[in-house]
Amino acid sequence: MRIVMKFGGSSIDNSRKMLSAAKIVADRVKSNDSVIVVISALAGVTDNLISAAQLSIKDIDSARKIIDNIMLKHLSILNGISNQALRSLLEDNIESSIHELNNILNELVNMTNVPMDILDSIMSFGERLSAQIFSNYLLELGISSKALNGWDAGIITDENYGNAHPISSVNKLIRERIEPIVNLGMVPVITGFIGLSINGKITTLGRGGSDYTASLVASSLMVDELWLWTDVNGLMTADPKIVSKAKPIKHLSYNEAIELCFFGAKKLHYKTFEPIIDLGIPIRIKNILDPDSEGTLIVKSNSSSVRAICILKGSTMITIRSADFYHKHLGITASILNERNIKYDDVSMIAVIGINFLQHPETIQQVTKLLKSQGVNIQAIFSLGNSTILAVGDGFEERVANLVHDIVIGDN
Ligand code: ASP
Ligand code: MG
Repeated sequence: MRIVMKFGGSSIDNSRKMLSAAKIVADRVKSNDSVIVVISALAGVTDNLISAAQLSIKDIDSARKIIDNIMLKHLSILNGISNQALRSLLEDNIESSIHELNNILNELVNMTNVPMDILDSIMSFGERLSAQIFSNYLLELGISSKALNGWDAGIITDENYGNAHPISSVNKLIRERIEPIVNLGMVPVITGFIGLSINGKITTLGRGGSDYTASLVASSLMVDELWLWTDVNGLMTADPKIVSKAKPIKHLSYNEAIELCFFGAKKLHYKTFEPIIDLGIPIRIKNILDPDSEGTLIVKSNSSSVRAICILKGSTMITIRSADFYHKHLGITASILNERNIKYDDVSMIAVIGINFLQHPETIQQVTKLLKSQGVNIQAIFSLGNSTILAVGDGFEERVANLVHDIVIGDN
């Protein structure tokens, strides 16, 4: 079987996690599966790089301190590599990347803002460093491997810095670059998130973009599965901090997963599903701290049942009666609303993913009856795709989420 495994920043941010990630890949390779790795920057590193870039304008010394910490963080992860030759080569590589990074920061001194193209090249270092390290962890485990920058793997984009789009021949390019490496029995370790523009400048695909790189690679190579590694047990039926009976979701459809991401339960890059939806490549979300547990499986499917409850606190519900007003003023503000006597309420939204209540009047009845008996009024119910959204008064959201979870998801 052929698998693309993407390791998110929180699944590799210390030497213990990095080693278990590399072992997972090594075990699969030893049992004759072929694995293509896509890697994120270590957790927090992209944010740190952005801060360093912004600080460089006014206070380069503080920016350098951030970069020093980034270097130490990466050097400390090398603890898991016992082969001294590999390790010292890697140390040299990390140091020279940091040197290159500091030179770019120098260009920013006394500028008024950070140009987007320079920011992209600064952000690219997170993935460039983690890919080299991961590839060496594989070598240490006796697996032959090659670290590749996004562009070496065929990720060529337009020049929309910060949110670049791959060019239309990207699938072909990825295939041409990656197939030969896989055919040699090597594991490519590809930097997620970054690419190169047609004019040869570094670009990024938008925050969280490693997911998107992974799904581009998975679709180009038509792999059997795409595994997204994180450090929690897959997707949950609700936020466990709010809903006491929240549990992992075993499986759901692409559409349900898209809606779940839309309502914020999980931050997958918004374009992750685009390349693979037609091909039907299954996605597994797995936990590096509990690699044997099933995680969540996302598949192409039309069958639907209630999968999850999401809460959107402090939303504003606007009731607009004039269609004409709606068309003219999409960028409305509260003061205009007041002026025009339009009603708006501060509410919280409870999104129930996987069921359109309007097609299930019996469930609406059950829910409204229970909530009423508990003194909670539903201010509005509306539906969006496979989801239903309940608007309730601010402050009621936690109770409502728990009650609705009990009714529509329950204990099993
Ligand atoms: N490192 C990038 C970010 O933090 C991309 C990713 O992790 O997917 O946004
Ligand atoms: Mg992510």
